[in-house]
Amino acid sequence: MSRALALLLLLGAGMAAFCIDLRPVVSPPGPDILLVTIDTLRADHCSAYGYTTETTPFLSDLARGGVLYEQAWAPTATTAPSHAALFASRWPRSMGVMQNGQPVPGGELMLAELMSRGGYATAAFVSSLPVSSRFGFGQGFDYFDDDFDAEGASRGKRKIPGDGSRGAHRLDRRADATARHFENWLRRRDDPRPLFAWLHFVDPHYPYGRDRLLDLEWPDSVGLALRAYDSEILRADRGLATVVKAFRRHSATRSSGGETSDRGSVVLVTSDHGEGLGDHGWKFHGINVYEEAVRVPLLLWGSPGIDLGGTVTGDTVAGSKLAGRVRSQPVTLLDVAPTLAGLAGIERAPSFLGRELTGALPEDHAVFLQRRNYRSRRVRGREVRGPLTAVVAQGHKYLATVSGEQSITEELYHLADDPGELNDLSASRPGLSLRLARLLSDWESEYPAVKGVPVSDREVIKALRLLGYVE
Ligand SMILES: [Zn+2]
Repeated sequence: MSRALALLLLLGAGMAAFCIDLRPVVSPPGPDILLVTIDTLRADHCSAYGYTTETTPFLSDLARGGVLYEQAWAPTATTAPSHAALFASRWPRSMGVMQNGQPVPGGELMLAELMSRGGYATAAFVSSLPVSSRFGFGQGFDYFDDDFDAEGASRGKRKIPGDGSRGAHRLDRRADATARHFENWLRRRDDPRPLFAWLHFVDPHYPYGRDRLLDLEWPDSVGLALRAYDSEILRADRGLATVVKAFRRHSATRSSGGETSDRGSVVLVTSDHGEGLGDHGWKFHGINVYEEAVRVPLLLWGSPGIDLGGTVTGDTVAGSKLAGRVRSQPVTLLDVAPTLAGLAGIERAPSFLGRELTGALPEDHAVFLQRRNYRSRRVRGREVRGPLTAVVAQGHKYLATVSGEQSITEELYHLADDPGELNDLSASRPGLSLRLARLLSDWESEYPAVKGVPVSDREVIKALRLLGYVE
């Protein structure tokens, strides 16, 4: 063999190693998998997490047969970046997706692509514009239902004062409408492959309620808003019950190769962020990364025979009647994609940064948070502008806002003693603040921020405003 030919062959082999193998694997043994994200769902407003009003009866039922992760964080408090982080298992800043309307780059390997490549049929049914296929969320899905029609729209959202647009009703839909689309699709489905389905509900997102509560005067109407928000959670929980039951029925009874078989099923339920509801002086989400904005429910359920792994750390959530299994180690949405790929028996993508939630999890694991970049917020009575990042580690949360070259506004909270994050310890614990600041700056250096595509489409900006992104 000539040296030139040998070199060519070597080059070819090297190139092949960099190519993505798109051949599907025939009939993988994995279970059917359902991922449900309930938009804007604060963990502490779920009865499954100890909230005294019964907002999530079905989630509690599911938890009794599954594993509930007591301490789960979304990496940011904005819909699109948070969902992008979930599907790509990467930090939003590294993808250049820091606000709604910024598309997920085509080069990101999303969970649905991995599942599809591993032999799964993939389908998604979403309920609002920021996670629609036009922003890259369709990557890897064979079927993507983001067809928002007038019939399924939230009536309240069509009546936003000053709307003037009759198209507003085409921007979202209620949980019952999304669930109905999913049920109808399942009824028609005749496919021997295992299914990976994503359902997204948006009911708890502002504006709450159907015909009223659009222009709440804060803070006078906080009580009214809380009740309306809670009733929207209950509505989403009903939607969850509908889709999980339909999914289980489908999974247990469908025919495979002429025989009826149940290959087992897995359900993972979580949220993309919480909601301010007046805490820290903020009504909605996106502006900060306090607990009310980023602590989310996360629950994994498996049919009998599915090994959800791990050592559970308790069987009750504080203050809750729940008698399910609880794991209290810190986890994030970046852990979702590796977990579901693992349960499907599909090798994880090298780009995934998260861990499998079914495995051993350390008691202390640094969780990083970042808000989208805009406007200012109030810290200790003064206006602070600039990027805000935070880290949760060693039982504390450390937040830093960098404004200008040298000026850093720090905050430090002990999360167990001060869950409302009201008692700033940064001045009294300078050593701990410094250690956590170093963790945060190491993370920022390791995952530098990528400037994403600017949101300049006037129609998109207007549509996002109509959906309640009213910052
Ligand atoms: Zn959201």
